[in-house]
Amino acid sequence: MLSFYNTLTKKNEEFKPINSPNVSMYICGPTVYDYFHVGNARTFVLADVIRKYLEYKGYNVKFVMNVTDIDDKIIKKANEEKNSTIDVATKYSIAFFEDLKNLRIKEATLYPKATDHIEDMINMIKTLVDKGFAYNVNGNVFFDVKRYKFYGKLSGKNIDELESGARVEINESKLQPLDFALWKKAKEGEPFWDSPWGKGRPGWHIECSAMGCKHLGETFDIHAGGNDLIFPHHENEIAQSEAATNKPFANYWIHFGFLNINKEKMSKSLGNFFTAREILEKFSPEAIRLFFLQAHYRGPLDFTDELLASAEKGLEKIKNLQDTIKNRLKKSNQKGVIPEFDFDSFEQKFNGVMDDDFNTPQAVSIIFDFIREINKAIAENNSIHIDFYKKINNFMEKIAGSVLGITKDKSLQTERDSLLEDKLIEILLDIRFKAKREKNYPLADEIRNKLVEVGITIKDTKDGTDYFRDN
Ligand code: AMP
Ligand code: ZN
Repeated sequence: MLSFYNTLTKKNEEFKPINSPNVSMYICGPTVYDYFHVGNARTFVLADVIRKYLEYKGYNVKFVMNVTDIDDKIIKKANEEKNSTIDVATKYSIAFFEDLKNLRIKEATLYPKATDHIEDMINMIKTLVDKGFAYNVNGNVFFDVKRYKFYGKLSGKNIDELESGARVEINESKLQPLDFALWKKAKEGEPFWDSPWGKGRPGWHIECSAMGCKHLGETFDIHAGGNDLIFPHHENEIAQSEAATNKPFANYWIHFGFLNINKEKMSKSLGNFFTAREILEKFSPEAIRLFFLQAHYRGPLDFTDELLASAEKGLEKIKNLQDTIKNRLKKSNQKGVIPEFDFDSFEQKFNGVMDDDFNTPQAVSIIFDFIREINKAIAENNSIHIDFYKKINNFMEKIAGSVLGITKDKSLQTERDSLLEDKLIEILLDIRFKAKREKNYPLADEIRNKLVEVGITIKDTKDGTDYFRDN
């Protein structure tokens, strides 16, 4: 039975989807004005693992991640780069998708863009104005937080506390400091859309409400995001959606802890960040994922190169086992023993810890226990039946691969392997070249013939030797 912490109720709850086995899940995506940093990557990887675990359990997950492609930050960047907001958003959306792929994050079912949903947002704002939850001041429309009785239910604070504690924008035209913009009147030179309140653009919070309701329904199962979004973003999403529809917005709210640097949240504004692509140049995606998974998703995690390097080292155990299996699958046959090994008990342990609030640190240590025990079983037997290796392979692929994403990625491996292959062929051709120069023709021929045997043909030319792979 899967249960996890729900920020809304502030306790661990059994997961009961509205329409099992279907699960609807929404995660706040990026504002595409720059490359994303490793802190954002932590949130995206953790959401990916939760989604994959749900799929592993047999749920059919509709996973929606929005892309904010119009916002103050994008406008600012467009001015800096002397570019249009569309060009800025396109450039960084492309980078965003590349980085997700390189982190081995599974593609979302949908990536709705804010600018494709302006009409849905306007309709929701209209409903809020009609119902008296929102008011228009000179073309700016605000949500009236005092009209919504449950404001503060997610962050667990009441309005007075929030007003005194939060850094809220002072704005003469608002009734209360916590009221937030649903529609912003266009300023000179900014992109705008027509609306019943004049030319303008939507506020950030309404985007997620409109896109969540549109693609997942007025009530959906899971809404996720980083801790920093609890207030005000998610609090506001709940207020405006529930005020508009009279229905609960999302049943379960999952929030991820921060990735910190020297105990401080990694963030663009503090400037203490590394982009995901910078880190991907130094470490493998599997090591980055393992590093994230070794901490509980709700707690903070400190970013250091040393921790990533040690995750990379830990991965060697996984890679070594995978290489052993790959070799043995080629060589072994139906003869030999099938060692006694309780695969099911490892899988049950894995399920047990993941069912308990997605305890990935323990899940990872179960994988390492499994590897240790398997290596022992392999070492203790001289000749092992191929079925045993197949079972190991299935276990690793199903759990460490498909759910956690910490086994070697086959597509990347092919690329890396072929690079290595190229280098090895070149070394052999170099030796052959020297052999010929020393008139050692038997050795030169032997190299040629051996290469042909493994499917590589060579051709001497004036400029050196070319080689071709048979397919
Ligand atoms: P942003 O582009 O800042 O809206 O962030 C995109 C996602 O990354 C949101 O879900 C944020 O909560 C999350 N996020 C931002 N900074 C961090 C951090 N340092 N650690 C973990 N998650 C973060
Ligand atoms: Zn959102």
